[in-house]
Amino acid sequence: MAEEHTIQVELASERKPKPNEDGLGFGRHFTDHMFIMDYTEGKGWHDPRIVPYQPLSLDPSCMIFHYGQSVFEGLKAYRTEDDRILLFRPTQNFQRLNRSNDRMCIPAVDEDLALEALKQLVAVDKEWVPSAEGTSLYIRPFIISTEPFLGVAPAHNYKFIIIMSPVGSYYAEGIKPVKILVENKFVRAVAGGTGEAKTGGNYASSLKAQEVADEKKYSQVLWLDGVEKKYIEEVGSMNVFFKINGEIVTPALNGSILDGITRKSTIEMLKHWGMKVTERRVSMEEIYEASQSGQLEESFGTGTAAVISPIGEFLWEDRKIVVNNGEIGSTAKKLYDTITGIQRGAEPDPFNWVVEVEEQSVPVK
Ligand SMILES: *Cc1c(COP(=O)(O)O)cnc(C)c1O
Repeated sequence: MAEEHTIQVELASERKPKPNEDGLGFGRHFTDHMFIMDYTEGKGWHDPRIVPYQPLSLDPSCMIFHYGQSVFEGLKAYRTEDDRILLFRPTQNFQRLNRSNDRMCIPAVDEDLALEALKQLVAVDKEWVPSAEGTSLYIRPFIISTEPFLGVAPAHNYKFIIIMSPVGSYYAEGIKPVKILVENKFVRAVAGGTGEAKTGGNYASSLKAQEVADEKKYSQVLWLDGVEKKYIEEVGSMNVFFKINGEIVTPALNGSILDGITRKSTIEMLKHWGMKVTERRVSMEEIYEASQSGQLEESFGTGTAAVISPIGEFLWEDRKIVVNNGEIGSTAKKLYDTITGIQRGAEPDPFNWVVEVEEQSVPVK
């Protein structure tokens, strides 16, 4: 590795007390260290370093505060029964980060350096990977535009940062299928827009619909396509699957759907089991008709946070669609058990999805 790409390490002089593993919740606690690297036009990405977790000091004119030129990723580290630490398909996250970067006019990062930085950061803070059932260390790589300038243009300066947060079990009270409100007014993304990129603005624009769903006691919204509002795109910030008459169907990637790594893993696993999986357009009308004729067997969302999230009901205007009597289906259950088993090193890993974080001697500065 070139000299300017050697990761410097500055260890925290004091370590924070670890939170109780029973009440971690999501994204509230942060580890002792973070990774940071700067981009300067003409110089490229430089000064990769692990430093104590700390606030940033930024000029109020920084472009990130005004026009939202940013991208992020989300993945997890898991502690195995025999105390090894595993990452799930991290290379996929950095490849997707660069696809998001391209869409948002942010310079690409070196994927090998990013993975090396991530492994070193997890190794430095390995004590923060919780061990209680269902818990994990959530990892949030992100990039912000830091040039102090109010013009609308791609910035000339950026920061790439990785922070980490121990998180609780998504299913502390067991896996219960959720109720979903089909969103008919707001849209998440349109073809040609930024739906395929993991960029902050997509989430800001989704909040209003979620507020309405919360009021009606539905846990998430089902997003339809932005043009005709007929075709299914995603559920909340997860990809969505249906089992219709024995066949698994999921919306094909169309430029506005986020290319989920859990979605990809689910498709690969289902095919490995010999099941029929089809990626194509799926209309809400088709799902309604399949439920009326008794052929809609299951539905579930996929994403890093929940892995598999079974859906028990959809409300589509005034039509209520109950799926599998509101209970988790056998395919969703088997996928959940298998994928989470691989992530925790408790199940065979036929596709070599997990990457172990080795103990490493981190230079002390
Ligand atoms: C991150 C994300 C997903 C899920 O992606 P995973 O890689 O499986 O975590 C799905 N939809 C949206 C909108 C997302 O932001």
